[in-house]
Parts: sequence; structure tokens; C-alpha cells
Amino acid sequence: MSTLAVSRTVRGACPHDCPDTCALKITVEQGRVVRVQGDPEHPPTHGALCTKVSRYPERTYHEERVLTPLKRSGPKGSGQFVPVSWDEALDDIATQLKAVAARDPQAIVPYSYAGTMGLLQGEAMAGRFFHRLGASLLDRTICAAAGGDALVATYGGKVGMHLEHYADSRLILIWGSNSIASNLHFWTFAQAAKRQGAKLICIDPRRTETADKCHQHIALLPGTDGALALGLMHELITQGWLDEDYIARHVDGFAALRERALQWPPERAAQVCGIEADVVRQLARDYATTAPAAIRLNYGMQRVHGGGSATRLIALLPCLTGAWKQRGGGLLLSASGWFKAFRNPQLERPDLLGERRPRTLNMSTIGDDLLREASPAFGPRIEALIVYNSNPVAVAPESRKVVQGFAREDLFTVVLEHFLTDTADHADYVLPATTQLEHLDVHTAYGHTYALMNQPAVEPLGQARPNTAIFRALAQRMGFHEPCFRDSDEQLAEQAFVGLDMAALRAQGWVKLPIAEQPFADGGFPTANGKVRIDAPGYGVPDYVAPYESVQSAPALARRYPLAMISPPARHFLNSTFVNVKSLRSIEGEPLVELHPDDAAARGIADGAMVDVFNDRGRYRCRAALSGRARPGVVNGLGVWWRKLGAQGTNVNELTSQRLTDIGGGPTFYDCLVEVQAA
Ligand code: SF4
Repeated sequence: MSTLAVSRTVRGACPHDCPDTCALKITVEQGRVVRVQGDPEHPPTHGALCTKVSRYPERTYHEERVLTPLKRSGPKGSGQFVPVSWDEALDDIATQLKAVAARDPQAIVPYSYAGTMGLLQGEAMAGRFFHRLGASLLDRTICAAAGGDALVATYGGKVGMHLEHYADSRLILIWGSNSIASNLHFWTFAQAAKRQGAKLICIDPRRTETADKCHQHIALLPGTDGALALGLMHELITQGWLDEDYIARHVDGFAALRERALQWPPERAAQVCGIEADVVRQLARDYATTAPAAIRLNYGMQRVHGGGSATRLIALLPCLTGAWKQRGGGLLLSASGWFKAFRNPQLERPDLLGERRPRTLNMSTIGDDLLREASPAFGPRIEALIVYNSNPVAVAPESRKVVQGFAREDLFTVVLEHFLTDTADHADYVLPATTQLEHLDVHTAYGHTYALMNQPAVEPLGQARPNTAIFRALAQRMGFHEPCFRDSDEQLAEQAFVGLDMAALRAQGWVKLPIAEQPFADGGFPTANGKVRIDAPGYGVPDYVAPYESVQSAPALARRYPLAMISPPARHFLNSTFVNVKSLRSIEGEPLVELHPDDAAARGIADGAMVDVFNDRGRYRCRAALSGRARPGVVNGLGVWWRKLGAQGTNVNELTSQRLTDIGGGPTFYDCLVEVQAA
């Protein structure tokens, strides 16, 4: 690709872990990206970008980009490296991996998530590589596993409303989502509905920027969403607000749920949630008597012990009122299941495993797993870790153990990265990866129903290579000679989808999936019989599952650590991405914990004071922000700062636990008791 002296616009797609997956228009002048803008023609995102990705050139041309392979030259975790050639790095990595694989390939673990959501630079070639190798499989749970599995258990798939239909809603419950920060384009449609007279209600422990702009904010205690849903159901039943016909035709097993919900009068739900019973009653009335009524559920609420069950209960609400029958009615948590019919299940070539069935490790417990010895139950000790599209040292729970694991001198770690993150600092080799502006990719989405293509705008910077190219080169050195390891990125893109108009995807940058306008107006859920499942196989009838750690469910622990902590992302970061972009970091300032003024006063903590937030797992120093954004009894530790950019080299995950959700094996970041004291 020649980029010299050319001024042009290239079609792209935002690669980040965000429901919106914006279509991009990238302006290149003299071979350099000068502007990244939204594509106004793309219906769900209509040309607007968030502040973060508007700064993409700053991130791409950042002076600290890793642009050459690096080899560790100091102690593990020191971040000391020397540049080496690609040949030296790849030869040595292949030699090391071969030695481990000769003992047991399961001792090699891939670790990746949604640093890019692209199918090519995600798992296309990486999946082939690790399947052929026979490495451990990774259960990619760290964000959405509880909610995702709960949706599948209930609806049969990760499916829901069309994003654009929220503009037609008359009532929207924004549940567990700071949409202004993390689902901006949904917020645009919600605003359009508001202008037409719709009522917006935010349900969130934190008074977010989104809550500020809704008509009502219900600040329930973390991890109690399932109790609120049961209290609402109680009212739907006792007030005669059910759509009996919709339930009879499209819902399996309502009798058992009815019996359960009748045990949850508003007073009981309110007591568990830490709100007033009248709030539950009025919310039920609003929800049942306003049409169309929609719920935008997001993943914040499912990062607790009972996150899966709570998701199931909330997902049942529009099935009890028949809200699906109207345009602008229903629920959206994830739309990713709509893509299932159009994705090629062979892209990652699971057949390369042959008869082998490697163990599966849960990425949310990497801290414990890195410290485990070999055993019949666990299998071999982890000897090698290949990290790409993830920064586990910053984002995985219970950092003390994660850091201890990554610091093992006998662990061989390779990290594909753009920057020297907390994780890259622990690598034996850091391999320079391209950004979205430098490689080809194709994308699905989880907040809308459009597939996208991202064309490379410029040549790779320095010696950076796409992940696909890195795994291709490693495969060659490992002696993997199957033809699939020679597929180019163009060929991978052609293989990624089945039944989509690839010519349109190339020409336009996006194509809409052919999905009915109101897919569940007359049932037709993607379950075996087309009905919603209440008594789902393996899960039973959903119930409220209390947090592991709360004042009500763990009173002894709460005597020492009486404050519940949630750790939503700071507005200008996306998990740990963008923390090193100076213009964004300067907006955020420094790591903060938000406290209610009453909780602060009881501890003698002044606004702006440095504090220690602590529990049995660790201690995290940051600055206190006294604010009505925190409700009494709850503190908000905004994340996810890079450890090395925080005070004392820690971040909020020093405090979070590795316990897992009730469904899906997800992490429980927001199920965490702490105490705060002045530093
Ligand atoms: S992070 Fe989300 S809102 Fe921002 S550009 Fe990417 S997809 Fe769009």
C-alpha cells in the first residue's frame, strides 16, 4: 500500500470494548492519520464519536508506542528491556514454547480479551495457533459472562431490541449503565425519546452522569438488582398488570416464578435494595402502564455473586408485560447473538485440536492459577503465557496475586502490545502490535446489528505487525505447515462471515444484518420451542442471590469493612485503555474514590484528602472525592488506572476478589466490602 503524498479518507471501525462499534472515517494526509471521525451514514452511530476515540491519532502516534520487539534485560516486572530483531525474538519464543510443549502443551496459556473486538486481530490466527499447539483453552469471562450466559439461558441467545427503536420508547429503564460514558449512541436515541416525552429512569448504585440527566435515579445497593426485579414482578402479578396472553403463548414455566415473586412484596425488595417501598411500587406502575416500555440493561449490574440470576429476572420483565409487542418495547443487554448465524465457526479452526481436549482456564482467576502447582485436578503448572489484547496485571481481580504470578521467574511471558503496560512490564518479550489504523479487520457488535470492516489507513508504524502476522510467523517457526497458517488477512476477512454481502461491507464499511423489525412481537425466541425459559435446564427458576460481601449477607465481614465498593470505569478511560493518553488522563486527573459526605465525615476524611481503601485482600491509596455520586454505605473506586500511574503503584483491583458469579463463571468486581481511612 503506497501512502506517500496522498490525502484520502479510509473507512474504519472502532475496535474497543464498547457496545457501539462506531463506523469511522479516517483522514490521511501525507501518509499520516490526521483525523478520526464518525461516519454520519452509519445508522446506529450516525457520525458521533466519544472523546476517547476522537483522540485516536494521539494514541497511535504516542511517543511511548512500542515499535520494535523488546527483550527483558532486568528483573521480572522491572519494565527494563532491550530492542531485538524480530528474528531473534520469534526464534527464541518458538524455542521456548517448543520446550514447554514437549512436556505438556497445556502448560502454555493464551490470555486475551477485547483490547480489540476485531475478529481477525482477535482470535482468527491466534485461535488457529493455540488449537494446533494444544495449549490450554481460555474461558473469556472477565466482562460479560454472567449476563451473557443468563440471556442464553432465558431467551436462547444474546439477542434483544434494535438500538434505534429506543427513540420510540415512552419509558426507558437504564439499568446498570452509565450510558453517557459507555454507550453513547444508545444515549442519543434515549434523548430523542425524552424529547418526545419519554420518561428515563436510571437504576444504578452510583449517581452517574447518566443518572444526572434522567427523570429519576434509583440508587440501589450493589448486587441487589435481582431483588428489585422480584419486587416489580410481585406488583405486576398482584395489580393485574401481566399480559396473560403473551405469557401463555411465549413463556414456559410461569407458575413457579409467580409463586416465587409473590414472596417479594415491595417492602421486602426495598429493604434488600436499600430504597423505599414506594419507589418499588411506583417503578412497577410506571413500567406496567407505560407503552412502549424498554430496558437498557448493561453489564455493570452482573459483576456480583448473583449477577446471572439478576440478569435472568430482569430479562423476564418484558416477557411478563408483553412489552416486546411494541416497537420501542423490550430489552437490550447484548445483540451479539444476532451475529451467530453469520459467523464462520471454523475461522479459529477448533478442528486443529484433533482428538485433544485441553483443560479450560477461567481468565478471571488468573491470579490463583498462576500460583497453582501441578495437580491431577489442575493439570500442569502454567509455564508460558502469551498475552494479547489484554492487560491482566491492571484489570484482573485481586492484583496482589496476579502480580505475584506474573513476577514468577520461571514463567515465560510474551506480550503483544502497543505500550509498556503493567502487563508488558512483566514480559520476557514484548512484541509491537499494530493499532486499528494500521491493519485490516472485520467486526461484529454487541450493542447494534451491523457488521463492519476496518481498512488499514496507514502502514504499520516502526516494526509493528498485526497480531495475525505475529501468530503466522510463530506458526512457521513452530513447524505448523497447515495451509490455514498461510491465509492472508484478506483471506481471513473473506472467511469470517457466512451469508453477508462482503462487497457491500467493503464498499460501505458496514452492512445491517437481516433481522425482523420486532423479532419477538409474537414469540419466536431462539430457544428449542421458541418460548422464553423460566425453569431453564441447569439453572432452575431464577431467585435473588445475595452478594458474597454485603452488610446484609456478610455481617461479620461488614463489621470490619462496612462500605460496599463498586469500580466502574472512569469516563475517559475504557477499562485500562487510554489511561496513558495524556490529554485524557489530564481530564481524569488522578485515581479517585467517591465517598458520600456522611461516610467521609464519620471517618474524618476531607474532600481531596489522600486515603487508603483496604480490605483483607489489599490496600489502595488514592484521593477522596466527597460527592453525591456515592450513596451512603457505597464507595465508587473509579478504574481502571494503570498501577504504575497510581499512588504507590496499585490500582482498585488490589481490593477486588476472584470469586465468581452464580452463572457463567464471571468476575465479581462490584461485590467487594472495604474500609476507607485517611492516609
Ligand atoms: S469507544 Fe464506543 S463510542 Fe467510542 S468510538 Fe468506540 S465504539 Fe464509538
